[in-house]
Amino acid sequence: MVKISDIKQMLVSKQASCTEITRKYLDACAKENDTLRAYITITEKEALEAAEKVDGKLASGGVLSPLEGVPFCLKDNISTSSVRTTCASKMLENYVPVYDAHVWQLLKENNAVMLGKGNMDEFAMGSTCETSYFGGALNPHNTAHVAGGSSGGGASAVAGGLAVYAIGSDTGGSIRQPASFCGLVGLKPTYGAVSRRGLIAYASSFDQIGPITSCVEDAAAVFDAITCTDPMDMTHKSRRPVSPLIMGEIRGMKIGVAHEFFEGLNPDVKCCLEKAISTCREMGAEIIDVSFPLLKYSLPAYYILACAEASSNLGRYDAIRYGYKTENYSSLDEMICLSRSEGFGAEVRRRILLGTYVLSAGYFDAYYKKAQKLRASITQKFSQILERCDCILTPTVPVTAMKCGSNMSPVEMYQSDICTVSVNIAGVPAVSVPCGFDASGLPVGMQLIGGHFREDVILNAALAFERGSSGCYIKDSGLGVKL
Ligand code: GLN
Repeated sequence: MVKISDIKQMLVSKQASCTEITRKYLDACAKENDTLRAYITITEKEALEAAEKVDGKLASGGVLSPLEGVPFCLKDNISTSSVRTTCASKMLENYVPVYDAHVWQLLKENNAVMLGKGNMDEFAMGSTCETSYFGGALNPHNTAHVAGGSSGGGASAVAGGLAVYAIGSDTGGSIRQPASFCGLVGLKPTYGAVSRRGLIAYASSFDQIGPITSCVEDAAAVFDAITCTDPMDMTHKSRRPVSPLIMGEIRGMKIGVAHEFFEGLNPDVKCCLEKAISTCREMGAEIIDVSFPLLKYSLPAYYILACAEASSNLGRYDAIRYGYKTENYSSLDEMICLSRSEGFGAEVRRRILLGTYVLSAGYFDAYYKKAQKLRASITQKFSQILERCDCILTPTVPVTAMKCGSNMSPVEMYQSDICTVSVNIAGVPAVSVPCGFDASGLPVGMQLIGGHFREDVILNAALAFERGSSGCYIKDSGLGVKL
């Protein structure tokens, strides 16, 4: 798989111009995107314009910033003022935002080459990408399987050689889970580490933007590039770059392992994780048994709180100012009702209903308030464990990529988020790194969870693991661009 450093090296050594590289990616997208459905919209014009600027800078002897000239995929819930931003929904099929998201502003200023807008579950609600109005993204390692969700398009693009990296969003696992399914690295930063301005909200107290990449060093580089201070996001907190702190040293690190995360795993996933724990131990990490009895409450707490926030956030789609509008109606009420029923897909409607229910007067105390209390307890438990350990090691997902069209019930789908949602509940950072394959060759991921703003710790452990396993968990899908 192509890394950021490969592109930089080609540009600096003048082996290829940025326009030539970008063309290669656009050609590959034209060839493969109909199959993979990684992108909802391909932004050829924007990509070539950025590439031209990079070539101009190189010609005049300029020094490139870390992501300058590197082609990438931006999730389609991140606002781009010149390009439609659909959230993979019929509701926003033709919506063009009036401003750029902060992350896109930062990347654009640095001449990052956006190839297109990444496919996703509708409004980021889902774990397979199959709730996308445009059809789900497929897994480049086996196109009969899903790429994961909700940032499935980004993961499919990177693993399918249609982008060097992707920017996704993670509310309950949407960066880490598709990264795990597609054999990639996915970083969910600490809540507040990356500005959410311009990220179309699903559940605002959980949502966080982060990278999906082919290696740990790239994840650190992208994270550093998108984490600059934003005075217009009150939840954003500035921080130091992590790349200079990442040496790949795991010796002496205390890694917590909680048995609750290992119950009910697919046997192949379990086997890969056990091997990964042994590898960490052999590399000099100290494995510490810890316990996380609240794990079983994390799914209900997450789905109550996330749906409650979603029901409020999605109230803005009233078909008056923007968004899908029904054709036939006889009153304002009917217009709003029909537009929302026709514009939103089934999963989104289910969550709005659930969220409205748990917030309603008679049920607020029984559901919403209880879930908030659980949130406080889960957060406290993570802090206690992370006082004793540098990070916590778990599987990223209990299973590998599902078959397309497996028709899971909503509850079955929610259950596959068991290992990721508690991280968002507590707002701590976590990274998924490849750690093996199942019997049919589909990737398995391991998750490393750290304390607030300790991305440096988890990325350090992840890099050590990546190096210690000498790249044997990295598999090329054989698709897309080869340099
Ligand atoms: N699968 C989870 C959900 O459906 C997480 C989605 C996300 O992180 N955006 O809510």
